[in-house]
Amino acid sequence: MISLDLNSAVVPVSGGASGIGLSICRALRAEGAKPVLLDVDKGQLEKALEELYPNQTHSRFGYLVDVSDMVAVDAAFAQIHHDHGPVTHAVANAGIVWRGNLLDMPEENWKRVIDINVNGVLHVCRAAARHMVDNNGGAILTMASIGGILSKPERAAYTTSKAAIVQMTRAMALDFAAHNIRVNCIAPGLIKTPIQEAQARAYGEGFVTQLAARAAMRRLGEPEEIAKVALFLLSHMASYVTGETVVVDGGLSIHYA
Ligand code: NAD
Repeated sequence: MISLDLNSAVVPVSGGASGIGLSICRALRAEGAKPVLLDVDKGQLEKALEELYPNQTHSRFGYLVDVSDMVAVDAAFAQIHHDHGPVTHAVANAGIVWRGNLLDMPEENWKRVIDINVNGVLHVCRAAARHMVDNNGGAILTMASIGGILSKPERAAYTTSKAAIVQMTRAMALDFAAHNIRVNCIAPGLIKTPIQEAQARAYGEGFVTQLAARAAMRRLGEPEEIAKVALFLLSHMASYVTGETVVVDGGLSIHYA
């Protein structure tokens, strides 16, 4: 068996209370790592912590934090460092979707998507990197989307934000490399999480299944299939990989017909 060497690693995961983030937290726990969840959903956060750390005091492993609030993110990282010691890995996964035509998209919706999906990723990655500098190294993962590489009607804010994450990942990889910090990104296709369930509820089951059928593998992805790639990129197995975006979409984006 190949060891990923993540045992005891302290890993802040934004959006760790649900979907892909929670799946990454489960996979980290299975490797003996200590995910620390940053999320805005109190109910989901408590449920996730109960599952990940049964019969333990949860306050040290979960923070009710909005990633768009830089001061709150910095404070959470300071507390995590105080409670657990050096942060060696981090996952900037929290994100939201907003659907609507750019012509009449309310300004506040555009700003909210950019604030969470772009600024939030910067806040989490930079807070993590500043701690890793003192510790001489680490690995950071960001979560973009296939929508950051290909576009889609009525998703202007989301696709713009995800394209920014792809480029920010390269920029951070360059700026942090001297400190032995790697930064990589995953661009998931259509993954079975509450985000997709909400789309199915809003636009009909057919909306999601038709999209999934366009993937070469003709199905939605499971969050665990993102978590496996996440663990690889965070681990020493990816020691010479940085600035990369790995598309995990069952072959959705490899063809146009
Ligand atoms: P999800 O809704 O299940 O999980 C997102 C989590 O982020 C939730 O727990 C939510 O409370 C949290 N969150 C939202 N806003 C936040 C904020 N301001 N601060 C802190 N936490 C916040 O969605 P998911 O499908 O697991 O998505 C996770 C990431 O993967 C997102 O960035 C999403 O854009 C990306 N993604 C998902 C898919 C998919 O098909 N599910 C595809 C491509 C990319």
